[in-house]
Amino acid sequence: MRYDCIIIGSGPAGLSAAMNLKTYNKSFVWFGSKNLSDKVEKAEKVTNYPGLPNVTGKELQAAFFEHKDALGLEITDKIVSNIYNMGGYYNVVAENEFFETTTILFATGVVLGNQYKGETEFVGRGVSYCATCDGGLYRGKTIAAIATSKRFEHEITFLADMAENVYLFPFYKECEVEKENVEKVMVAPKEIKGQLRVSELVLKDDTELAVDGIFIMRNAIAPTTILSGLEVADGHIVVNRKMETNLPGVFAAGDCTGKPYQYTKAVGEGNVAAHSIIAYLG
Ligand code: FAD
Repeated sequence: MRYDCIIIGSGPAGLSAAMNLKTYNKSFVWFGSKNLSDKVEKAEKVTNYPGLPNVTGKELQAAFFEHKDALGLEITDKIVSNIYNMGGYYNVVAENEFFETTTILFATGVVLGNQYKGETEFVGRGVSYCATCDGGLYRGKTIAAIATSKRFEHEITFLADMAENVYLFPFYKECEVEKENVEKVMVAPKEIKGQLRVSELVLKDDTELAVDGIFIMRNAIAPTTILSGLEVADGHIVVNRKMETNLPGVFAAGDCTGKPYQYTKAVGEGNVAAHSIIAYLG
C-alpha cells in the first residue's frame, strides 16, 4: 500500500498535521513516541498557549491526548531511520519495516546530542543508522553497534546474526543482549576514523577498535541523515511559507524548521503543512 503521507514526529507540529490529514480523510502513518513529546510533558508552566492560561506541560499533554483520542489518531511508536527517494514517491524505513508514501512531513523537533567526530563524514562509507537496510553488508565482518535505547535490541541481535564480531555500546540500563560474538564495551566512543571507508572507532580512553562498520541507533536522527538531499541551513530544514522543502512532496513543520521554538509556531506550521500536503495530493 502506498500512503498519502508519513508524518515523522508526534509533538505539537505532528499532532496538528495529523488532525488535519485525518479530517480530510488522507491515509497516513504517524511515527513518534507514545507520550507525544518529552518537550510537552516536561514544561513546568506554559503561559503562551492561547485559551489555556497557566497550564502545566502535563496538562497540555493531557489536552493533546484527549484531542488525539477523540479523532481516533494512532501513533506508531517506531524511529524512522532512512527515507529513500524513489522518484515520485518515497520508501520510509522505521526500525524493521518499510512504508511507501507519496509525501513526507518532518515534524521531528530539534535534534539534541552531539555526533561523534567523523560521523557525518563516513555516513554511507561504514556509518549506518539502519540495521535492516545495511546489516547484510557486514556478513562475517567486525562492527560496532552504538545504541541509546533498549528498543534497538532486536536490531542489535539481527546485526549479531550477520557480523562475525560485534562491539556493543549499550547506553541504556539492563542490556539483555547475550551472544557469543557480542562484546559489551562500557567506554564511550569519541571518534570515527578511516580513509575511503571506516576502519577504526576510537574510544574516550584512546583505545582504537578496528571495525568494518559502525551502526548508530539513536532516538533522534538528523533529518539530512534520514533523507539525503534535504536542504538545511544552520541545522534547520529550509522551508517556504507553504512548509515545502527543496524536495518534491517533502514538507517540514515545527522546531525542525527554525526558531522560535514554541508550541504555537509548531501547531501553526503543522496546520499549514497539512493543507499544503492535501493540495499536493490533489
Ligand atoms: P517536538 O515537541 O520536539 O516533538 C518531536 C517529536 O518527534 C518527538 O516526539 C520525537 O520523539 C519525534 N521524533 C524525532 N525524530 C524522530 C524519528 N526519526 N522517528 C520517529 N519520531 C521522531 N514552548 C512554548 O511555546 N512555551 C513554553 O512554555 C515552552 N516550555 C518549554 C519547556 C521545556 C522544558 C522545553 C524542553 C521546551 C519548551 N517549549 C515551550 C518549546 C516546545 O516544547 C517546542 O517548541 C515544541 O515542543 C516543538 O514541537 P515540535 O512538534 O516541533 O517538536
